[in-house]
Amino acid sequence: MTVFTPERRSQVMAMLERAVAPPIWNAWGRRLELRETGDNAFQVPAPNEFYRSLLEKELRTKLEDVFRQLFGTVPSISFEVDSGFEVPVTAPAGAPIAVTAPPGQRPENPVQLNPAYVFESFVTGPSNRLAHAAAMSVAETPGRFYNPLFVYGGAGLGKTHLLQGICHAILRARPASQLIYVSCERFVNDYISALEKKRVESFRTRYRSADLLVVDDVHFLSGKEASQEEFFHTFDTLYMAGRQIVLSSDSSPRDIRTLKERLVSRFASGFSVAIDPPTYEMRVAIMRRVAENMHKDLPGDVANFVAGAVHSNVRELVGAVNRIIGMASLSQRPLDLALAQEVLRTERFSRPTQVAVPQILELVARYYGRKQSELTAKTWRKSTSLARQVAIYLAKRHTNLSLKEIGTHFGHRDHTTVLYAIRRIDELLPQRPDLQRDLDTLGQQILA
Ligand code: ADP
Ligand code: MG
Repeated sequence: MTVFTPERRSQVMAMLERAVAPPIWNAWGRRLELRETGDNAFQVPAPNEFYRSLLEKELRTKLEDVFRQLFGTVPSISFEVDSGFEVPVTAPAGAPIAVTAPPGQRPENPVQLNPAYVFESFVTGPSNRLAHAAAMSVAETPGRFYNPLFVYGGAGLGKTHLLQGICHAILRARPASQLIYVSCERFVNDYISALEKKRVESFRTRYRSADLLVVDDVHFLSGKEASQEEFFHTFDTLYMAGRQIVLSSDSSPRDIRTLKERLVSRFASGFSVAIDPPTYEMRVAIMRRVAENMHKDLPGDVANFVAGAVHSNVRELVGAVNRIIGMASLSQRPLDLALAQEVLRTERFSRPTQVAVPQILELVARYYGRKQSELTAKTWRKSTSLARQVAIYLAKRHTNLSLKEIGTHFGHRDHTTVLYAIRRIDELLPQRPDLQRDLDTLGQQILA
């Protein structure tokens, strides 16, 4: 082929359009450049390395096929980073979306948000200012600057609040948005049930047609290879289509254990930002806000005392204030320092016994996708042994029960069996980082 005339170019583009998935074509197609760099040689520019590799993956063979069919030759095509080339942008507000799931395949209630988790109620300070600013920017111009936005930090520091804040803001500004907010656990469970019911296609259509995909607690993918694989493709499809992705996790992308490198690199390819534990001043401000919402005045000494006692977890802080205020109205006592001290002191001592084995069983069964009865059955099946051992291990850790008492909850086993299960987990832990993570996640759920 000698000259790549404008006619030839439109022929190529028209044919390529039919080969490329619509959301990707909408984002890229019209702007896709084919720069002729020599005889039968082309260059395709991309805004950064990440898009470069995605574009190459998506387009190389398709382009080659198109050229072969049209002109009988396969050109040499190189995909190159050209920083002057702009990142594609999501469909404008309110614009019809190219691909949407047929109505029957939409989830009943696709977005379940906590109405309290809005930006307005989020107290900012040095520990979360950057994360907050990035979240605001994403809400204003999704798909543009921070994609994916990856927010990480310890439990109870406001990740979910911030992620849902983005969703609320976007739904307010663009009610027609196809927004999906899910916990990662929900994503994984949806995927598993789609596999079981042979509905993987509709699962894919649903997740891959979102304008904005928000997945909370992606560390949950740790050790779950098939789900990671699925998530990886969902991610690429949306990302290529210029759709905004927002993720949260308890650690930075690189620190999520047993996460495949290609997911790590995707998670880290946009903007990662940490939320740290709140400063003293933020803790006081957060408590004041909670009290205000309940139309109560929080005396200075009470706020100081609680801010000094609960430092590393906003959820606990909010919980403490709620309980102090609740106790004051229940017992009709003044909301003062003595009451606050009393409430916090009793909580410290009573925590371990507040967790009951059935609650642990329920969480563990759900986590591993088992029935509770499988964990407590008289006859033990090998396939459930890990889940059962984990449940026993957590029962030991989070209750004050003796080995014998724990045994009664697990098919009336004697204490040696219980001890064996605990030892077994202890043995496995050093070689199984995914197991450690399971235990951490479950431990958090138990204490939540
Ligand atoms: P995470 O998802 O990081 O575990 P959450 O978002 O669930 O934490 O936050 C736990 C609780 O603390 C929620 O009630 C949330 O509203 C509150 N919270 C966290 N950070 C803030 C903040 N900066 N301002 C106001 N409330 C906050
Ligand atoms: Mg959360």
